[in-house]
Parts: sequence; structure tokens; C-alpha cells
Amino acid sequence: MAVTTNVTSLYQTRPAPIWRPHKAVFTPAALEEPYGNIILEKVASQGIPVEVLSGNRITGLRGKDVRATYRTAKNTLAVVNAPASAFKLRPIPPSADWQFHLAEGCPAHCQYCYLAGSLAGPPVIRVFANLPSILQNLGHYAPTGKLTTFEASCYTDPLGIEHLTGSLAECIRYFGERPHLRLRWVTKYNQVDSLLNLPHQGHTRCRISLNAEPVARRLEGGTASVEARLQALRRLALPISQGGGGYPIGVVLAPIMPIPDWEVHYGDLLDRLQSNLDFPCDLTFELISHRFTPGSKDVLLQWYPNTSLDMDETQRAVKRNKFGGQKFVYRPDMMQRLRSYFEKQLSFRFPKAKLLYWT
Ligand code: SF4
Repeated sequence: MAVTTNVTSLYQTRPAPIWRPHKAVFTPAALEEPYGNIILEKVASQGIPVEVLSGNRITGLRGKDVRATYRTAKNTLAVVNAPASAFKLRPIPPSADWQFHLAEGCPAHCQYCYLAGSLAGPPVIRVFANLPSILQNLGHYAPTGKLTTFEASCYTDPLGIEHLTGSLAECIRYFGERPHLRLRWVTKYNQVDSLLNLPHQGHTRCRISLNAEPVARRLEGGTASVEARLQALRRLALPISQGGGGYPIGVVLAPIMPIPDWEVHYGDLLDRLQSNLDFPCDLTFELISHRFTPGSKDVLLQWYPNTSLDMDETQRAVKRNKFGGQKFVYRPDMMQRLRSYFEKQLSFRFPKAKLLYWT
């Protein structure tokens, strides 16, 4: 008797859990901002307990140990004003000209999370109530007439908190009205409905972060399944006339890892990407191999003590930056194998797409 396999059942379309923080805390300064009050309404209407702090510092996140602090922080939404330093933007090559932040922190639980090395303190999710001022400030970094790109997801996953903030939609509308500004953001979530009808004018590139199925299943807690992300990407890219968002899109393959049978698993991912993007679309790729620093390893092992993530320095090459900091990357021969595999596959499978960088 022939045995048939239902291919679709191999991959679950599991949406990302909708993040419901145990509480939302607001600073008095955040509530002086009209946008802070919009967030307050959204949060309260979703039944999230609200606390107004007596001062502008976030306190009360520390638990009896690192794990307890992690749990409390990851279950807290803090609505604050971005500090003055947030108005002095930093460049972010090769992804964009500048980075800006609508929030810092992320509700997901990826065991390799790059935020571990870049944000200090308990991993609370801070959302900025002075977003309109943050957006107004971008104009200072964009000379008229020159296309200037801004990355909004260096320190957060903006879609993971969008149902509580509306900040991403606010940014997309803002960029849609400015012919020479371009917005880029990336997510591992899939709830894109609220973005599909925005007047973006093609000025926002929506990117989805993807990985081989075993990496996503094993290491990307709290995110949407790969299948759900692929479907979200398709919806963002489909023409408006077909019910999609009509956005330029991007795929961030990250962090790429040479797991056992990596060519099979990444090949399978690319097969599925191809079948989801079976129509003409404006598509870019960014390829990022896994790396870690001594600092991020230390934090990640405290957050995820039982992780199976490979962070064995003896199997890596060291890359130093101009400030003397070091990160551990794959050795040159492995880097080369990975890079040539992806470059070849992408040029063959997606000849019209642009590969922005490999790192
Ligand atoms: S989705 Fe991104 S920012 Fe959020 S935990 Fe995962 S790696 Fe970190």
C-alpha cells in the first residue's frame, strides 16, 4: 500500500503568541505626551493592568536571581520617554544610513538574541511615548533630495508589540508622507493585518527574519513559526489589488548556523520561500552568520542556562573591532562555504532580488 505524506502538516502555521504583559508601567513624563496617552488607552482596552510610577525611573524589576529578573522584565511593558541621547542618531551600516528606536527590548525569547550584548540591565520592554518628537528629529539626518534610510528594529521587534503601541503604523504613515525618507524594519512575528492598508507609498521595506526549521524550533521561543512568517511576508508583498500590503519586502536570514545537514534545511527553507513568493515583488536579502561576544555569551547563559546554542570559542575565529572589542565568528573556511552556498542559491532561485550584504 502506498504511503502518502501530507507535506503541509510537516510545517505548522503557528502564529506568534500575542504578548500580554503582566503589567504596563507608565512614567509621569510619558503621560505628559499625547502619544503616551494613546498607548495608555490601547493597553487598558486590552485588559492589561496599568501602574503609574511616582518617578521617571523604572524600578521593581529585580527578582531573587537572574532568571526571576528575566521573567519579571520580559512580562513588563514600560512606557517612558526616550532620553535626549536618543535624538543623536548613530549610523548603522550596512543595513541603513541611520538607526532610530521606537522601543527597546522584545517580548520573544530567542536564545541567541543579539540584544543580550547591546542592552544593559533587565530585559524589560520599553516603549517610547515621545515617538512624534523622535520622528520629527529624523529630518535633521536626511538632507532634502537625498534618499536616506532609517532602521527601526535594532533594539526591538516592532511587530511583537504593535498591538499595544501602534508605533510601527505611526512610523509607516510618517515615512509615507516624506518622499526622500525610507524606513526598514524586521520581525519574527506574523500579525501583519493592521499594516496592510496603510498609506506607505512604497517608502517602507518590511523584512521578515527567517531561519532553518530546526534553528527556529529549537532557539526562537515566543516567535511565529517559520510557516506563519512566510505567509505574513507573502501578505505584505502581495499587490493591494489582491488584498496584500503592496510593500517592498526583505528577508533577513539570521543567524545562519552550520547545523547538521544545514544545506538540506536551508534548501528546504528557500524552497518554501520561493513557493510563497510566486509573484513579482521588490525583494532584498540580508545574510548574517551567527556570532557572539564574551559579554553576550555571559548574559545568554544566565538567561538560558540549558541552551543548546553552540557558543564554543575554540571552534571560532576572532574578529576585532576598532575599539578593541572582540566577537566570535565562524572560521574562514566555514564562512566561505556558507557564503558561496547562499550566494549561489539566491542568484539561481531569486535572480531579480538584491543581496544587500553577507556578514
Ligand atoms: S525576535 Fe529578535 S529581538 Fe526578539 S528575542 Fe528574538 S532575536 Fe531578540
